[in-house]
Amino acid sequence: MVTTISRPAMSSYEEVVNLFEETADRLGLEEEVRLLLRKPYRELHVEVPVRMDDGSVAVFPGYRVQHCGARGPYKGGLRYHPDADLDEVRTLASLMTWKCALTDLPFGGAKGGVQCDPAAMSESELNRLTRRYAQNIAHIIGINRDIPAPDMGTNAQTMAWLMDAYGQLNGHTPGIVTGKPVALGGSLGREAATGRGVVLVLGELCRDLRREPAAMPVAVQGNGNVGSWTARLAAEAGFPVVALSDITGGIYAKDGLDIDAVCGHLADGGGLAGFPDADRITNAELLALPCAVLIPAAGGDVITESNCDAVRADIVIEAANHPLTSAADDALTQRGTIILPDILANAGGVTVSYFEWTQNIQSFRWEEGRVNEELARIITHAYRSVRDLSREQGLSMRRAAYLIAVERVAEAIRLRGFV
Ligand code: NAD
Repeated sequence: MVTTISRPAMSSYEEVVNLFEETADRLGLEEEVRLLLRKPYRELHVEVPVRMDDGSVAVFPGYRVQHCGARGPYKGGLRYHPDADLDEVRTLASLMTWKCALTDLPFGGAKGGVQCDPAAMSESELNRLTRRYAQNIAHIIGINRDIPAPDMGTNAQTMAWLMDAYGQLNGHTPGIVTGKPVALGGSLGREAATGRGVVLVLGELCRDLRREPAAMPVAVQGNGNVGSWTARLAAEAGFPVVALSDITGGIYAKDGLDIDAVCGHLADGGGLAGFPDADRITNAELLALPCAVLIPAAGGDVITESNCDAVRADIVIEAANHPLTSAADDALTQRGTIILPDILANAGGVTVSYFEWTQNIQSFRWEEGRVNEELARIITHAYRSVRDLSREQGLSMRRAAYLIAVERVAEAIRLRGFV
């Protein structure tokens, strides 16, 4: 049993800032640069009124946070979730700054959120919500200013509505969002990109550890865009995917789920829970499974001080953003668990979003093979840089990733003459 470090509860944004400060100390960063990076550049809070299908009006709080734009236009997803408050959106915006810098994409970091429950809303209510939110934030976004993308609770359809609403104000502008449908200028390969990036870093890590995929059972929490593609591509790469879950719970098969059969079952309208060839488990049980690799691919703060002792996997790949609190991260790292941090592990999505943005600017479509090839090149390079620095300096992969990212952002800040 590992004793976790006890410290006063921090908000997730404070946790990310603490990690930034620790990195800044390591880099000997000047105070002026720190001052700029401790707080986001801009935080917009809007109220989003929506006429509901029953005739009533509901008003949802919405946010767009732009953390740091030193390296390029702001870039970041849009989340629809009941917990999408300002602290969460700030956290996610700052993670985007570090993620884009780590992968060396020419973007700053941003994030949007609307505090609503998309599962309880109709398609037409979500359409109206998205259009009104787009109008409310239109003055701070733009193809060279800030480019939204999907995140939890949003998808390609949401991006299509957002693009259309923005286009009504500014003329047809496909590059205003990424992750949109291919029929409207989306990139081939974008839907699978985040999961593909997760499986690429997992594959690299296995090679480094000289471990065979077939001997590494994987459990995936979350079966949305990221979780479902991670499970499919991990199975394709030869990893037995033993567990998969969604918000209602999960399924488990000791020798590996037949992922094609699971996908077929879901496509036929069956829920995960009704899949016949597996045992039902709870999300808490999934986190504690005796597997080699645990991949949280749903919400944030799911592995905390209070449940991290139950984690048995010796590798955790952060497909979700901020799935581990700092205390859980410290405790698992002390125990020898290898953790591939979110800003590296889930960077495949923003990488292909970057390709989509460049394709839109050029009005030119890449073939999927080229998208996947360039994605693999960028993610593999980022992974190897982080691994090499972590070995060289005896740091965790997370701390090494932050060193690379913070140094790049600080350099851009100085070169621009912000300080
Ligand atoms: P999504 O909305 O498509 O899917 C979310 C999944 O999580 C669903 O299966 C849902 O049922 C499940 N879920 C929600 N709450 C849960 C809970 N309490 N316990 C277990 N499962 C729960 O979202 P997504 O786009 O797949 O994003 C998942 C995570 O990946 C988020 O942290 C997001 O920020 C991160 N991420 C997404 C992308 C992207 O391209 N979509 C890119 C980078 C990071």
